[in-house]
Amino acid sequence: MLTIDILTLFPESLGGFLGSSILGLARQRGIVDVRLHNLRDFSTDRHHKVDDRPFGGGPGMLICPEPVFRAVEWLESKGFRGRRLLLTPAGRTFDQGYARELSGEGRILILCGHYEGFDHRIVEGMSWEEVSIGNYVLSGGEPAAAVIVDAVTRLLPGALGDPDSPKEESFSGDTLEYPQYTRPREFRGMSVPQVLVSGNHAEIRKWRDEEARKATEKRRQGGS
Ligand code: SAH
Repeated sequence: MLTIDILTLFPESLGGFLGSSILGLARQRGIVDVRLHNLRDFSTDRHHKVDDRPFGGGPGMLICPEPVFRAVEWLESKGFRGRRLLLTPAGRTFDQGYARELSGEGRILILCGHYEGFDHRIVEGMSWEEVSIGNYVLSGGEPAAAVIVDAVTRLLPGALGDPDSPKEESFSGDTLEYPQYTRPREFRGMSVPQVLVSGNHAEIRKWRDEEARKATEKRRQGGS
């Protein structure tokens, strides 16, 4: 069982996503426990203010240190020990290897930024792994947290219906996945490759290996 604590200003933005499909089922089955914590609850300000203007000027608002420090200290007082991820476009790029690493943990914490990001004392004054989901800037860390929770959860034993699913797909080995087809066998003049309906498992394996190799080569050359 993996427990993921998420510190966010917008817990409601994650609710629907976390309740649906494979993630929703994994939570129901007790494979993953995702706990959403609203940073506003840790503000000492009368109006639950959590952000303020940057010293020295510049656009936007920054998340103040107080609510983040208090939230993390509260989690620790409740027994939290584990890896702490701070979401920032400047971080280590999240990939399948990173997801695999995290799926072996018992507990992780994800801190979502918003607005212009964090007061730097949050970054410096506590230990974090700074994580980015890619080279672009989101308006908040919530979609990034959703990406991480999803990619990690589906690797947990029992999360997918078929335990072999993660073994076959893109990035599990050195290659991307081979093309797959389902019913109908004929669709608008396009038919399913004959070998896949031949029942010959050795031939199917060979075809898939070859197609996976081709797909990988094409992508690595910058094809689509
Ligand atoms: N001013 C900051 C960007 C802030 S974006 C900068 O230039 O670096 C607001 C928040 O969205 C960030 O604090 C971070 O938590 C989240 N975020 C934005 N892009 C992200 C990315 N590519 N990966 C992970 N988190 C991201």
